[in-house]
Amino acid sequence: MSDCCSHDHSDDLEFDPSNKAFKRVLWISLILNFGMFFVEVIYGVLSNSLSLRADAIDFLGDGANYFVTLFILNSALKTKAKFSSAKAIFMLVFGAWILVEAVMRFFSHSVPNSFTMSWVGAMALAVNGLCAFLLFKFKDGDSNMQSVWLCSRNDAIGNVAVIVASGGVYWWGTQWPDLVVAIFMASLAVHSGAQILRSARNELTHGHHKGKSHGHVNKHDH
Ligand SMILES: [Zn+2]
Repeated sequence: MSDCCSHDHSDDLEFDPSNKAFKRVLWISLILNFGMFFVEVIYGVLSNSLSLRADAIDFLGDGANYFVTLFILNSALKTKAKFSSAKAIFMLVFGAWILVEAVMRFFSHSVPNSFTMSWVGAMALAVNGLCAFLLFKFKDGDSNMQSVWLCSRNDAIGNVAVIVASGGVYWWGTQWPDLVVAIFMASLAVHSGAQILRSARNELTHGHHKGKSHGHVNKHDH
């Protein structure tokens, strides 16, 4: 779920550019997350599933976080805040688009393809599991461990929700399970997007972190 995107993984991933193995894992995670974003959007449209599209927002947010870690972790705080704002606006627009479509669905009766929903959902779960497994090896402190764990767990809950919704769509032959999950996840994405945008604005105007959900301060900010 998009909840874990409300803070930057970049703050938790102490990135040492000389660590080749870690850099490779970050690259793999980046490609897999952006790749799954497109897979879920494309198959979400093809299968008429809104919950798949809502799940895609999280992959976009996480992919953006790996991008920050790899390329702009050592840049100025303002650069990072601008990138965060762009990410947040994408999340807001994407989430709003799904909510509008969900409302329109109330008046139509298009049943999504449950088979596509289930295999894409299972693929998303596998990709999140793989990324969590790869990243876990590079966690040192307890708080880092916990943050990767919570994030992966939330992502997995979202993927499982899509799979469960596909079962409901198949079983009852209606779009409602897909809509319920989509509305829930899109609302979370809009909420997270608004939060990120607010803290990025704070960083741009005050030049320092404000309202971080965790006490960890990135050493590169000093
Ligand atoms: Zn995530």
